[in-house]
Amino acid sequence: MNIHEYQSKAILKSYGVNVPNGMPAFSVDEAVENAEKLSTPVVVVKAQIHAGGRGKAGGVKIAKNLEEVRQYATEILGKTLVTKQTGPEGKKVNRLLIEEGSNIKKEYYLSFVIDRQTARVVMMGSEEGGMEIEKVAAEMPDKIFKEYIDPAVGLMPFQASRMAYAMHFPQPAVRKVTKLMGCLYNAFVGKDCSLAEINPLVVTADDDVIALDAKLNFDDSALFRHPDVEALRDESEEDAKERRAAEAGLNYVNLGGDVACMVNGAGLAMATVDIIKYYGGEPANFLDVGGDSTPEKIAEAFSIMLDGGQAKGIFVNIFGGINKCDLVAEGIVEAAKIISQDGKSLPVPVVVRLEGTNVERGREILKNTPIENVIMAPTMEGGAEEIVRLVKEAEA
Ligand code: ADP
Ligand code: MG
Repeated sequence: MNIHEYQSKAILKSYGVNVPNGMPAFSVDEAVENAEKLSTPVVVVKAQIHAGGRGKAGGVKIAKNLEEVRQYATEILGKTLVTKQTGPEGKKVNRLLIEEGSNIKKEYYLSFVIDRQTARVVMMGSEEGGMEIEKVAAEMPDKIFKEYIDPAVGLMPFQASRMAYAMHFPQPAVRKVTKLMGCLYNAFVGKDCSLAEINPLVVTADDDVIALDAKLNFDDSALFRHPDVEALRDESEEDAKERRAAEAGLNYVNLGGDVACMVNGAGLAMATVDIIKYYGGEPANFLDVGGDSTPEKIAEAFSIMLDGGQAKGIFVNIFGGINKCDLVAEGIVEAAKIISQDGKSLPVPVVVRLEGTNVERGREILKNTPIENVIMAPTMEGGAEEIVRLVKEAEA
């Protein structure tokens, strides 16, 4: 789960990380009021969306007086911001962060992520702050430093010092930055984060060290331990279908194409996405219905896939182990009932490949309840090829 910058900063502040004073604003008047309360010579107006790259897209503005705050807040609030991270459709700005401006001497990059290879938290730092870290990694990989953290002892002071020197922090800032690293690590672990990224971390003209940007991602599987974090969820920033799927206990990721697929098991779901691509189709989604699918869950999955007209065809690829093929078949029948009035049709072609537990009964159910547009496929390859062909035909 993602949260907004101002929310991340509030969490980091509670762990002792130095962040600028600031307050969120939901209207232009509130933005001006907040700026007045801050009473600093320079105020920064920042779009709050769940995406980075705002600065370059005009979503971060430096105001020297209250008139400018009003002007920038009016410009940014309600605007759809297209950044490198939002995709071409952009994200609408519904909130602002009004914060005190810092007198930046130099920008750095600092983050904590989980490294899967070593199964440890890794701290990454670079003196190439402010720019995209992916670009630094591609063009100047030797400018990124890493410290792998032993979970039994946490971030060791020598690791923080080594990082601070590698990043070339000026001497008067070193103690401040090593302290900040420790606080950020505590926040990362304490809130079960999957990412904590400060880009930029800055040293100011008076050698203060401040986290000017803050991005926290949380491990969804640990959210139950953090109701305070869960409460920060901003549904308007999330994909509506992904949200609905999460509520139904389905693992769903929108992939943007037009061949929807409904599969059980993450591995088979990935293989299905691959095979659709192999036959020249564009998968609309990744969808793992899990091992305990009921007809209701299957019907909900259909309804989500068909919502909004994105899918031009559906490929059902079930290898029933714990899942039973007859329940999946019943789910398809149920879906047809919910989605069409006569209960006999689905708006797009559906190719079904069923294999495994109770497969005969499953096929029987689909045969005895003839739904228009449902085609049985004997193999996974054949099914994928068929659905791609049908979708292309529908588009032609
Ligand atoms: P994004 O990463 O989405 O572009 P940032 O919060 O990193 O947004 O802001 C972009 C740039 O704007 C920063 O690199 C920094 O130069 C400047 N900036 C952001 N916040 C402040 C601030 N409080 N004071 C001064 N400059 C700021
Ligand atoms: Mg940034």
